[in-house]
Amino acid sequence: MTGFDTIAIVDWSAGKRAPAQPSKDAIWIGVVRAGDEQAPVYCRSRVEAEEWLSGFIEAEAQAGRRVLIGFDFPFGYPRGFVRHVTGSNDPLAFWDWLEARITDSEAGENNRFDVASEINRLFDGPGPFWGKPLEDGWPDIPYRKAGISYELCAERRACDLAAKASSSCFQLFFNPTVGSQVLMGLPMLARLRRRAGVSVWPFEDWSDAQIVLTEIWPGLIEPAVKEAQGDEIRDAAQVRLLSRALAGLSAERLQTMLADHGSDAREEAWILGAGHSEELTSVACGRVALEPPPLRNDCFALPAGVDWTPVDDALALLRDRMTPVVGVETVPLMQAAGRVLADDLVAKRSNPPHPNTAVDGYGFAGAAIGEGPQVLPLVDGRAAAGAPFAGVVPEGNAIRVLTGADLPDGVDTVVLDEDVRVGDGHVAFRGPLKRGANTRKAGEDVSQGELALSAGRVLTPADLALAAAVGHGALAVRKRLRVAVLSTGDEIVEPGAQAAEGQIFDANRPMLLSLCAQFGFEVVDMGRAADDRTTVRSALDEAAARADVILTSGGASAGDEDHISALLRETGAMQEWRIALKPGRPLALGLWADVPVFGLPGNPVAALVCTLIFARPAMGALSGAGWPAPQGFTVPAAFEKRKKPGRREYLRARIRDGRAEVFKSEGSGRISGLSWAEGLVELPDGAVHVQPGDPVRYIPFSSFLC
Ligand code: AMP
Ligand code: MG
Repeated sequence: MTGFDTIAIVDWSAGKRAPAQPSKDAIWIGVVRAGDEQAPVYCRSRVEAEEWLSGFIEAEAQAGRRVLIGFDFPFGYPRGFVRHVTGSNDPLAFWDWLEARITDSEAGENNRFDVASEINRLFDGPGPFWGKPLEDGWPDIPYRKAGISYELCAERRACDLAAKASSSCFQLFFNPTVGSQVLMGLPMLARLRRRAGVSVWPFEDWSDAQIVLTEIWPGLIEPAVKEAQGDEIRDAAQVRLLSRALAGLSAERLQTMLADHGSDAREEAWILGAGHSEELTSVACGRVALEPPPLRNDCFALPAGVDWTPVDDALALLRDRMTPVVGVETVPLMQAAGRVLADDLVAKRSNPPHPNTAVDGYGFAGAAIGEGPQVLPLVDGRAAAGAPFAGVVPEGNAIRVLTGADLPDGVDTVVLDEDVRVGDGHVAFRGPLKRGANTRKAGEDVSQGELALSAGRVLTPADLALAAAVGHGALAVRKRLRVAVLSTGDEIVEPGAQAAEGQIFDANRPMLLSLCAQFGFEVVDMGRAADDRTTVRSALDEAAARADVILTSGGASAGDEDHISALLRETGAMQEWRIALKPGRPLALGLWADVPVFGLPGNPVAALVCTLIFARPAMGALSGAGWPAPQGFTVPAAFEKRKKPGRREYLRARIRDGRAEVFKSEGSGRISGLSWAEGLVELPDGAVHVQPGDPVRYIPFSSFLC
């Protein structure tokens, strides 16, 4: 069964009965049925809300609708908590445990602090619950958090870390009172769950359930709430927008989000949509997908009065003004190589998740091992990777362990196969052995909640390994930047076609299309346009409709047939950048229907240099990957060259025998020199006289790719 007909989002409250007048911090329920947004429902008390929800579930089920109901409080506690309280790892057993104890009334009077006291008494030391209205009431509940050690179970769940939520389910008082909401919410859920057709995600099999209860968190769409709230009560805006976001997702996307949860979710629960904040926010804002605003109209403006702009100044200006123009989508991890990570990626799980053995050998408690010969009895069984040993290894005993196996209880140290003798049910070796020897600690590589990869990163194969290891199966990435490439000129004919006298083959387009594909962008081949205003205009119109950025070559000067610069000037958004660069002149930069256009020179050598030096980093910024600076290397020159001051120069070059050699001719029409070269030598703006052996800056072409 896929898809839901109705989405309801409940903003729960732990407070007393709220006023008749709709107000904040009460219970609010947002409903979207068959795409129709209902006005948020206001409930004055939990008793009233539970009645409303029961009626709602019954009515929806009777109408044959499939319903997802989200509640904004944790469905579970950090790993280990439930076991400590109930003796079982089953979070639903705790729901029942709580339901048997919590009392509530129409007026909102309840015993949550007494029940929290009872739980705290089960734990050694202060806590885990803390916060109360009176400093001297409920002696088992600390007034403040200071002094509570969250050792037996963590303070936050894996999903809280993944969603970057700062609240804790142990905080009962002072905002946010999440802890109280859980205690007053789970008993209600325990009752709703008993109704026919209701399943709890992700604890139970929800795939065919008519009614699915999920945990949600409005913090995931906070930017949307800020944008849309206006005078509306915040809680009402939250449930309205979050129900809109979940209802607005395609069935497939919602299914992906339901499937995307960490390995701890069966015990701790999970926040639906954690890690998909950008996508939910954009749908909540009514955008199909988050599309960043277009560039500002003056993004290519040069400072007044400047005649020739030095390369570095031009780059600094561009860097300042180029912002991401592509939205975000979620893709399966397996397909994410080369894509730009849209959000910081937080580890959902530690790597390694549990302490394990780094070698094949025998494991035991290190503390019991002294110096000299050791003979330990072997317990029956073994621990292997993927097949842990379920029992406990008593102190003074050892167990067979294989590389990658979780360390069994009672084992913290491993001795290598090569260092032991085994026989007669015993293992013998020589001490001492450092405690922890030959083992890997949980999280020694990356621990849960740690930043694994930063937004803007172009994902490498190794990044995918890391993302997988820390629990991700899908990644939020930037949509691929679409780059349109257009050649202009009456003389240009298609490669391989018949060329009449005076015609030349289009050399720029195959070069620029394949270069942009190597950069990781999606290329849109716009073909050739003749030197004719109308033709060029409609080619630009089409390119702007199909791409996020346009590269043209030819027609960028101020001559009669230079239609690219003329058209861009007509729109008022054109700048002809007179950059002090050789080869490179002229470069026309402008916006066409909000889409940036890099009007490159027609000359293939200049077209390539301008693309690498200017368009490449600008496109990096537009794609969400930030401003990539190519890595250059200082190497001795294998050539001599005298250069006047006033402009920076790039020479076609390559490295042979550790020295940079340059192409025999600097002619800017010499395409063979481009093909010969493996990189560029960059000569500074000022005058230089390079002698063989002098250090020069060499930038390999491959430096422009990453
Ligand atoms: P333009 O910038 O249009 O004045 O062109 C400068 C020079 O580059 C001229 O010699 C053009 O023929 C040549 N050119 C322009 N576009 C291309 C192209 N796509 N392939 C090869 N050469 C070109
Ligand atoms: Mg031309």
